[in-house]
Amino acid sequence: MSKNNVFDVLIVGGGVVGACVLNKLTRIGKKCLLIDKASDVATGASKANSGLVHAGYDPKPNTLKAKLNIRGNKLYPKLCKRLGVKLDKCGALVLGDDETQLDNLYQRGLENKVYVEKWDRKQILEKVPDLADHITCALYARDAYIVSPYFFTISVADEAVLNGAKVSLEEDLVSVEKKDDIFEVVTKKAIYYAKQIVNSAGAGYNEVAKLLKAEEYPLEFRRGEYFVFDKIKDFNVPCTLFTMPTKLGKGVLITPTIDGNFLLGPTSTESDTQTKVTSEGLDEIRNKAQLIVKNINFRNAIRQFSGVRVISGDDFVVEKSKVADGVINIAGICSPGLTSAPAIAEMVTKLLGFSLKEKENLKLLKKRVLFKELSKAKQIQLCKENKNYCSIVCKCEEITKGDVIEALNRPIKVASVDAVKRRCNAGMGRCQGGFCFTKVVAQIIKERKIAYEQVKKENRGSEVCLSDIREVNND
Ligand SMILES: Cc1cc2nc3c(=O)[nH]c(=O)nc-3n(C[C@H](O)[C@H](O)[C@H](O)COP(=O)(O)OP(=O)(O)OC[C@H]3O[C@@H](n4cnc5c(N)ncnc54)[C@H](O)[C@@H]3O)c2cc1C
Repeated sequence: MSKNNVFDVLIVGGGVVGACVLNKLTRIGKKCLLIDKASDVATGASKANSGLVHAGYDPKPNTLKAKLNIRGNKLYPKLCKRLGVKLDKCGALVLGDDETQLDNLYQRGLENKVYVEKWDRKQILEKVPDLADHITCALYARDAYIVSPYFFTISVADEAVLNGAKVSLEEDLVSVEKKDDIFEVVTKKAIYYAKQIVNSAGAGYNEVAKLLKAEEYPLEFRRGEYFVFDKIKDFNVPCTLFTMPTKLGKGVLITPTIDGNFLLGPTSTESDTQTKVTSEGLDEIRNKAQLIVKNINFRNAIRQFSGVRVISGDDFVVEKSKVADGVINIAGICSPGLTSAPAIAEMVTKLLGFSLKEKENLKLLKKRVLFKELSKAKQIQLCKENKNYCSIVCKCEEITKGDVIEALNRPIKVASVDAVKRRCNAGMGRCQGGFCFTKVVAQIIKERKIAYEQVKKENRGSEVCLSDIREVNND
């Protein structure tokens, strides 16, 4: 047993929950390892959701969901400021045509001690001029935010690594045995030892629980599909717009994203764990969108995606295993899991028997500032100092070669095109990577010093090149 491979806590699953747990435990001085089977953190539900930090008016009072949502919402501003992650307090409106429903939601908000107001149609129209005709009232939640869910997760995990944590990707668990109060965790890559283990594997929870000999839970999966719209100026979405369930069915939402696009969705369809987009799902969104606002031009939709919710009964499961000593079970973290993740991390820290007090003199992550966000004067200066910033890689998002190199040199070293996209937005624009894909691949090869066959789009099995088709003479 080498000292390097012994950890206080091993975390399985690098979504927003596992990343927040890793971050908190590292900040209190614990030696931690996070393993994930994927090629990056934030590749599960944490990359494919609405990106909302919910205010907390919705969960049933006194449930774990309500408590963790409200605490998580309070933790976000300070955390994002420290990490240099953009967070916009744009607020949320829950639109409807039924005063009784509005009253119920308002009462729930008050019970959860969340700041809420009741608005009439005139007030809503001042904020949302394109409002659908049947909307008569709304609940306004002031303390709702938007955030990039994947960039937040990456930053939380990166900061932990900067402060001594280890993240190991593309790990396949083989076996876990407890020997003399320490877990021996065998993966296809290595053997690790840990005093305690946290299972935050999301959709893979039961698979991991089986190996840990811990509680398994019946899990339900529900797919949510979305449209992503271009950064258009012909339509104004000033805040997140939800619909209350109406006589016409359960609604969808429209929200601005932190990067200036807007999202329309999600559906909620019983599914397996696979993400896919269907014509039925997209039709449903098109139809329901008309019930929120008028005049959406679907020609400005640039992409569709889906994420899978993992549900276990009515509430989150965050507990000490009763059958596997030293194991923490985190299961069924559906919405508002993104919001709750920092609070889940605090709860897990206490369940592991540690105090929340953080160490002093922890290192701060270098704030990401993309070239396009700099003033003209700073751009000229930077181009003089480093010619990589004079070369545009992604035309739609105006991302430079310098930005891509910075993305590849963050604490967690990645080697996939989508991982670069999540770190600097290259490929997120209207042409969806048509122009920059090969340039990003070339940069990954150079920075990682790997062969082109090793570069993936996302996970194992998505290698972008399989072999040569002809030799190129570069002379
Ligand atoms: C459509 C949709 C919309 C949502 N909108 C919101 C929202 O606006 N606001 C909000 O607060 N919440 C929202 N949520 C909920 C939120 O996205 C989730 O609660 C959150 O992302 C869950 O994070 P996680 O870390 O538990 O899971 P994941 O992000 O799924 O991470 C689990 C990780 O475990 C890894 N893993 C799985 N099996 C194994 C294994 N055997 N070995 C190693 N690693 C493994 C996976 O690769 C993955 O990286 C939404 C969810 C969906 C699907």
